[in-house]
Amino acid sequence: MDIFREPRVTLIARPQFLEPAHLPVQWLGEGSDGERLAEYAGRLCYMSQRNPIHRTTAEYLENIKKQGHGSVLEHSVYVLLIEGISRSCSHELVRHRAGFGYSQISQRYVDESHAAFVVPPAILGDPALESDWERQVAAAQAAYVRAVEGLMERYAWIADKVHRRKLAREAARSVLPNATEVKIVVSGNARAWRTMLELRCGEGAELEIRRMAIAGLRVLQREASALFSDFEIYVADDKLDAARVTYHKV
Ligand SMILES: Cc1cc2nc3c(=O)[nH]c(=O)nc-3n(C[C@H](O)[C@H](O)[C@H](O)COP(=O)(O)OP(=O)(O)OC[C@H]3O[C@@H](n4cnc5c(N)ncnc54)[C@H](O)[C@@H]3O)c2cc1C
Repeated sequence: MDIFREPRVTLIARPQFLEPAHLPVQWLGEGSDGERLAEYAGRLCYMSQRNPIHRTTAEYLENIKKQGHGSVLEHSVYVLLIEGISRSCSHELVRHRAGFGYSQISQRYVDESHAAFVVPPAILGDPALESDWERQVAAAQAAYVRAVEGLMERYAWIADKVHRRKLAREAARSVLPNATEVKIVVSGNARAWRTMLELRCGEGAELEIRRMAIAGLRVLQREASALFSDFEIYVADDKLDAARVTYHKV
């Protein structure tokens, strides 16, 4: 049985900015395509392409966040592949609607007989709790396998094997635990990511989604620091990472 003890978050798509030759910006400082795109959109609003205040991209975007002019951040979309999170964690994640798109593994089509499971952070490191949890999860997976077999027999009269398997798996999944691992592709614009990260990196968030959000924040900060630099990661009283943000819900 494969067990995840932390999520894996991978950036799989980023913006590509194509600057129009007839309306260029006088850039200062470094900037990724996603950051330039947001700056470009912001400057268009006031036709300030000549950069009269001589701001670097980082300074410009800092001011955008400070002013709460968050709509210009919506142009820059980042796509993350998130693996090693539980079904309950992904359920919390998909509650974030505005500016997000999701594609998640289908338990109707995919055989979960060898699914991996995610240990809740609160259980990690306690051998007794961990081994009890592993026993429960293994028993649930065995029940799933038995249910699929039984359902395949019950519906043997259905000639289309793909349809029969789907019918079996969609019913058998009801015995799988919330801890079942999920893989999900998440597209979000920078404004949407910021709102989600603010809510889920905080100490009030459930521990697993907090761990996932921190991992996502690290990826996004590496990719586009000017869009996410005002998030500060710190070790909270519970000895786990959390993050606070300077500019709330821009
Ligand atoms: C610590 C914590 C505990 C939680 N506990 C629970 C719980 O017990 N039960 C539960 O059901 N959920 C719970 N949630 C989920 C929560 O209710 C939200 O569904 C989730 O945080 C997504 O937030 P959102 O709706 O602001 O996000 P999004 O859907 O991404 O929306 C972002 C923002 O866009 C605007 N917006 C989006 N949709 C609309 C709309 N239809 N109309 C007007 N404005 C809109 C709002 O300003 C909103 O804040 C919890 C969340 C957290 C962080």
